[in-house]
Amino acid sequence: MEQKAVSNYGATRRDFLAGWAVLTMAAALGATLQVAAQPQPTSAGLADPKLIEDLVAANRILVNQGVLDTLGHVSARHNRDPNRYLLARSRAPEMVSADDIIEYDLDSNPVDARGRPMNLERFIHGAVYKARPDVKAIVHNHSPSLIPFGVTGIPLRPIYHSAAFIGEGIPVFEIREAGGMTDMLVRDPALGGALARTLGNKPALLMRGHGAVVVGPSVPSVVRRSIQLEVNAKLQTQAMTLGGNITYLDPEEVRKIMAREDVALERSWELWKRKVMPK
Ligand SMILES: [Zn+2]
Repeated sequence: MEQKAVSNYGATRRDFLAGWAVLTMAAALGATLQVAAQPQPTSAGLADPKLIEDLVAANRILVNQGVLDTLGHVSARHNRDPNRYLLARSRAPEMVSADDIIEYDLDSNPVDARGRPMNLERFIHGAVYKARPDVKAIVHNHSPSLIPFGVTGIPLRPIYHSAAFIGEGIPVFEIREAGGMTDMLVRDPALGGALARTLGNKPALLMRGHGAVVVGPSVPSVVRRSIQLEVNAKLQTQAMTLGGNITYLDPEEVRKIMAREDVALERSWELWKRKVMPK
């Protein structure tokens, strides 16, 4: 915040003295605002080690499965306090370990970042946890096959049973409606809140020209949904390329599948996790 204020003012100063005065004031004000705007929340206590392990695994699995690259992130709601969530520091997901996990309040203030760099887009997570008590885990990704569906107006639709949740609706978040011309990052609580409102009660949303946010009732569930979104987007694109009438899942089929959505989840999770975690 302080650095940004300095460079903004530095670019527009008309002479050295005036600039210097403004810089000094901006720095002092910036420091004050930073302290005032970011109270340090108290910790909910040690999170369940199994949850931390799953969160670390989720980061690596999503790279292994082609959903995340060097960017993107996964979070989990804290098992001890619904008003806290856990998210790795800003780091390539494949490199994430338990030491990287930072606890946040729902305004995305860190409990104790210990100097670790934080993800700029953590506000996605805080805002969605605040709006959706049912959500226990969130993925933000730039899953490549989803991008065309966020920019063409062609809706993502459920083309096969494993991605039935898409039938509940996948809205598109247009950041221009919330923030005008931005650098496309959800980098403050206002943009996070706008994104959460667009998500509504849906399982995922696409971010125009950027990526996606996927939510779910557990870490394994949100990982599975993220993988299936990418696969469905590829399959739908292939089907559309072939031409002809595409028969998507019927809403009644979607309802019946959703009633047993996570039935075989453990079977997938066990193998995905085994591939990425040390034995
Ligand atoms: Zn992003």
